[in-house]
Amino acid sequence: MSSIAKNLQYVQHQIAAGAERAGRAPSSIQLLAVSKTFGAEAVREAVLAGQQAFGENYLQEALEKIGAMKALAPDERLQWHFIGPLQSNKTRPVAEHFDWVHSVEREKIARRLSEQRPPELGPLNICLQVNISGEASKSGLSPQELPQVAAQVAQLPNIRLRGLMAIPEPTDDVARQHAAFAAVHTLYQALRADGLALDTLSMGMSSDLEAAVAEGATIVRIGSAIFGARGAA
Ligand SMILES: *Cc1c(COP(=O)(O)O)cnc(C)c1O
Repeated sequence: MSSIAKNLQYVQHQIAAGAERAGRAPSSIQLLAVSKTFGAEAVREAVLAGQQAFGENYLQEALEKIGAMKALAPDERLQWHFIGPLQSNKTRPVAEHFDWVHSVEREKIARRLSEQRPPELGPLNICLQVNISGEASKSGLSPQELPQVAAQVAQLPNIRLRGLMAIPEPTDDVARQHAAFAAVHTLYQALRADGLALDTLSMGMSSDLEAAVAEGATIVRIGSAIFGARGAA
């Protein structure tokens, strides 16, 4: 077995064990393999091990990889999730080539994605990125502005608002990891109570996967634990 296949198996095991401890069904948590900085060969190894959903941060790199994968694994139905910062002048290729965008932090970006989504592809799945670390992070909507933006984005025709994404301030303190993810879960429940049909909480990376699963994550975004350490990134 390749090391990527072994790592995938191990991460799946961690998800299942964490879900069981939290009284959740392991199948309620999707593993997104974050392949940024790794090439199409690494993605292909993961595909051969059964992985179908991949997360990418850098648009040009991602588009090349998506193209390469059409040749390397033409029969596979792969899902591509854009999870990196997204500027408004880069929305068109994202709308045309991805299945999900996790990192929407402005209504304007969502509106452009909706306008530029080719209708034959069906609605683009969107998560709003929320900032629960305050000053420590510049990315994401504040909890205060979230409800209004969510209500606006939910009205757009060619996208489907699925839920929230968060990248809490990194910490080794497990209690703080739990507190941050619990805060995101609370915001998510409040939006649902307001009537939005959300089903996705995208949270948890290699170093805080367990806490995220315990606090209700439905997609965990795992890179280095699958593909190994990244060089400069
Ligand atoms: C890189 C990245 C990940 C994966 O991080 P790891 O620590 O390698 O698991 C997850 N989410 C986002 C938004 C990222 O940029």
